[in-house]
Amino acid sequence: MNAIATETKLDSAALDELAGSFRGQLVGPDDPEYTEQRKVWNGSIARSPALIARCTGVADVVAAVRFARETGLQVAVRSGGHSFPGLSVCEGGLVIDLGPMRGIRVDPQARTARVQAGVLWGELDRETQAFGLATTGGIVTHTGVAGLTLGGGIGWLQRKHGLTIDNLLSADVVTAAGDFVTASETENPDLFWGLRGGGGNFGIVTEFEFRLHPVGPIVLAGPIFWPMEQAPAVLRFYREWCAEAPEELMTIVIHRKAPPLAFVPTELHGKPVVAVACCYAGPVEDGEAVVAPLKTFGSPVLDLCEPKPYVEHQSMFDPSFPHGWWYYMRACDVSALSDPVIDIAVDHATQIRSPLTAFPIWQLGGAVAREPEAGTAFNGRGAGHTFNITSTTTTAEGFDAEREWVRSFWSALEPHHKSVYVNFLMEEGEDRIREAYGSEKYDRLKALKRKYDPDNFFRLNQNIPPD
Ligand SMILES: Cc1cc2nc3c(=O)[nH]c(=O)nc-3n(C[C@H](O)[C@H](O)[C@H](O)COP(=O)(O)OP(=O)(O)OC[C@H]3O[C@@H](n4cnc5c(N)ncnc54)[C@H](O)[C@@H]3O)c2cc1C
Repeated sequence: MNAIATETKLDSAALDELAGSFRGQLVGPDDPEYTEQRKVWNGSIARSPALIARCTGVADVVAAVRFARETGLQVAVRSGGHSFPGLSVCEGGLVIDLGPMRGIRVDPQARTARVQAGVLWGELDRETQAFGLATTGGIVTHTGVAGLTLGGGIGWLQRKHGLTIDNLLSADVVTAAGDFVTASETENPDLFWGLRGGGGNFGIVTEFEFRLHPVGPIVLAGPIFWPMEQAPAVLRFYREWCAEAPEELMTIVIHRKAPPLAFVPTELHGKPVVAVACCYAGPVEDGEAVVAPLKTFGSPVLDLCEPKPYVEHQSMFDPSFPHGWWYYMRACDVSALSDPVIDIAVDHATQIRSPLTAFPIWQLGGAVAREPEAGTAFNGRGAGHTFNITSTTTTAEGFDAEREWVRSFWSALEPHHKSVYVNFLMEEGEDRIREAYGSEKYDRLKALKRKYDPDNFFRLNQNIPPD
């Protein structure tokens, strides 16, 4: 095998051979679709791969992996394209794009779903909700199932039904050697452990099998808003209230300037607000009783927490995170919303400049914490809340200032950092990746990497080098 090179060298004989057997589309720089196909969700990332292999099935994935090995091209793997740091596109290498692989099959009797790697969360929710079922998944419809699952997967159903990986039954994988294997509790269990949190380090997953649960289709869900001035009191009340809440309830706190959306009264547009968004994964009447104290706390200016289809709730954040805007993000988990953590959050919330910046604070606990920590590569089940400090601008204008705001906010929280979710890392270096997994798991993941990818063929990811 050739050494893995970062520079572009397209071997024309190897390319002809690939083109001869490839069922999907091969998109090179001269192709009219190239400009569109090289884009990823984060508009601040612009890279120019030598080739994009748009795979239609396992055979295409195997062919693309073998082609990259033969030619020495660096490989990026893309499913939904939502990597915050843009790790699913490379400069001058090969993008193995699973985007065209969009098959979903729900088995309503067994309550399982088989899902190909290019499927997005909105697509999966639509198919599973046709049977009143769902699994824990991303809170923005156009996020990829694949990347999100492989990092762990947090979402509205997690406190009742666990992380996405806690609902993963098996995965089909093309390894760095171009072999096809299945991983589950009984087949290649070491790989199955590593896939559940270890990201794209061990191979390309072509298909997932998930466990599903009855959900909705109508759930009590949505945000309640207060003026930002009330944030210190709202957060202190919220802290006590959500600590006692049943596992059916999942909440996310958001600070931002109120967006000019149709359901937001015009007098609120652009005004700084704090919101607690809820989703109750149980009977609506039970949810109403649980959420009642929050709804009557202080003086909310808008209450959108009402019975609605689960799929509608799942698309609530879509307008805030469209493709192509410029995003920067840093993240950390904290044990609890202590007074100092609340003070830091409110202080930085009042400094938000961009009308688009919104930072979510996710509630963990419940079923997430109940699963044994050692059972999967995912780390940090014991954390109380996850800060996802995201800044947003439409273009480069104002981006640097917002990014500075993110960094200073994250640094201010540093004394309170407990862990970090690997899917919320930027390109932060090996020490941070080790920190994300903890030393013990990191060493175990390294050993697994030596077994499944000893050459570090898959290294454009939150990389766990084999040595
Ligand atoms: C708008 C938005 C909303 C989000 N919401 C949530 C959320 O609700 N919950 C949550 O947990 N996370 C969330 N995230 C983070 C998300 O989990 C990661 O960004 C994840 O990587 C997205 O997966 P993707 O398939 O879209 O990404 P891609 O950019 O396609 O892939 C990211 C990385 O995953 C690996 N990868 C992708 N596909 C495969 C595959 N088939 N086989 C092997 N490796 C693969 C590769 O290393 C790749 O670099 C969100 C991100 C964004 C941008």
